[in-house]
Amino acid sequence: MTSLSKICLHWTAGSNNPCDTDLNAYHYCIDSKGRIYAGKHKPEDNLNCYDGNYAAHCGGNNTGCIGLSVCGMAGFNLSKKQTKYPLTQKQIESLCCLAAYLSVKYGILISEKSVFTHYEFDKKKTKPEGKIDITYIHYLPNLSKESIGTYLRQKISWYRDKIKQSKYKFEKKGSYYEFSVSN
Ligand SMILES: [Zn+2]
Repeated sequence: MTSLSKICLHWTAGSNNPCDTDLNAYHYCIDSKGRIYAGKHKPEDNLNCYDGNYAAHCGGNNTGCIGLSVCGMAGFNLSKKQTKYPLTQKQIESLCCLAAYLSVKYGILISEKSVFTHYEFDKKKTKPEGKIDITYIHYLPNLSKESIGTYLRQKISWYRDKIKQSKYKFEKKGSYYEFSVSN
């Protein structure tokens, strides 16, 4: 594959901070404050997934696919809907801003085929693994699991316009990155 053409959105099913396993599995992890941590693998490592040096975040779909993950949701299941680490609004906003930034950087269009949640991808497989990321947002409890992908894509499109207008800048702040609003 010669280009990065897809973005898969995940949650880590861990705490609100990234652990080593998370940083190995995803290209970027986002903590509860919306801070963005670069993983061990660059997005470009996923152009070739035959050499073992890539972020294995989306089984059956890693090639050309960038993996972003919001940290949290440990122990969550769809019947009880409980976790010590619910996703925060700052996290979701940061996730969408990052996805938008990368979509501009790599020329990825925002559609269901190119930007999707792990849940959306998994359920299309002949043998789904039962992935549930991202199917629930605690601060938006009325959003159904089927509508979350669309909700996130709308938000990503909104940020994409702002990024094209240079309203948000991706900045390194020591060990993490953050988007700053420029006037
Ligand atoms: Zn996932």
